[in-house]
Amino acid sequence: MAEPGFIYTGLPARVVFGTGTLATARAEAERLAMSRALVLTTPPQAEHGRAVAAQLGDRAAGVFSGAVMHTPVEVTEAALAALRALGADGVVAIGGGSTIGLGKAIAVRTGLPQLAIPTTYAGSEMTPILGETQAGTKTTRRSPEILPETVIYDVELTLRLPVAMSATSGMNAIAHAVEALYAQDANPIISLMAEQGIAALARALPAIGHDPRSRAARHDALYGAWLCGMCLGAVGMALHHKLCHVLGGSFELPHAETHTVVLPYAVAYNAAAVPEAMARIARVLGATDAATGLYELAGRLGAPRSLAALGMPRDGLERAADLAVANPYWNPRPVERAAIRALLERAFTGAPPR
Ligand code: NAD
Repeated sequence: MAEPGFIYTGLPARVVFGTGTLATARAEAERLAMSRALVLTTPPQAEHGRAVAAQLGDRAAGVFSGAVMHTPVEVTEAALAALRALGADGVVAIGGGSTIGLGKAIAVRTGLPQLAIPTTYAGSEMTPILGETQAGTKTTRRSPEILPETVIYDVELTLRLPVAMSATSGMNAIAHAVEALYAQDANPIISLMAEQGIAALARALPAIGHDPRSRAARHDALYGAWLCGMCLGAVGMALHHKLCHVLGGSFELPHAETHTVVLPYAVAYNAAAVPEAMARIARVLGATDAATGLYELAGRLGAPRSLAALGMPRDGLERAADLAVANPYWNPRPVERAAIRALLERAFTGAPPR
């Protein structure tokens, strides 16, 4: 019998990867024909913003340091007002998924080019996906203008990412690759990236725990995060991402930590339906079982392993289960309420996933 065919769509992003690559920011902005770029950061990363503005020199129009989690539309409007007042013709977002989300929200409204400089492992910079909130409701859309044209990965910028955040952000990245391996539109190219991404992060994150300033480990982790981000941008996600969306959106649980806690349970839920993907995940983790391997990795990193530890109210579990089954979506195993409620119970207490 012939091997099954597949469809692979490459996303058109230019990537500059290395140590000290922030120094290329001016040349990269020039390449995108930005003559006056607005630099975006969160309030705590204003210093990173000033460093980028210094690199951009006369190509910097100013710094907007108001990016916050969940890309609220009011913040986007304030940034757009600053952009117009300064006459900016492009955006340079330096930070995690929150800041990169603001850059995407501006680009999709203005058509201006984006240069993204990620400082976490969340992976947003490699996706044409934007999540935004308005009046407490989160909506997600996908379109080609959302994808940043150029991404600069600079290992130096990640050296000070706190160890706890490195662990959960890295597990967040691994989750993209895990679900890519069993995606409805999985393909062999993305699966290669997924395996390599998981392997690089599973190797690097414990090493970062021992020595947060290790350039070799930080290089490995950022490279793995890039690969995992490509997985998220290229193929559809399933139960794990849906559950995290529900828990983050309706219970305000923190993004990366929620991914870290939920992943082993979502994998255990799907395991019997996708044995080949499970074998690949287990192999790159050096574990005998994928779900247990992920649970143990989180444990080794000292990351949270229960929803209770993240502040999830026990009486919210029923509503979370309702929301998780409310709108049908593709998953390798049918999404059934009783089984999802049982999954949430285990995740709440942090019991082993299998
Ligand atoms: P984040 O961007 O909210 O960052 C968390 C905090 O860490 C911020 O205060 C930030 O300033 C700080 N920080 C970031 N890098 C740092 C560094 N190197 N050193 C010190 N502090 C640093 O967190 P995140 O997990 O990167 O992003 C989460 C958000 O991104 C969520 O809203 C999520 O929905 C979104 N996201 C979107 C996509 C997508 O494809 N659209 C993908 C992944 C995440």
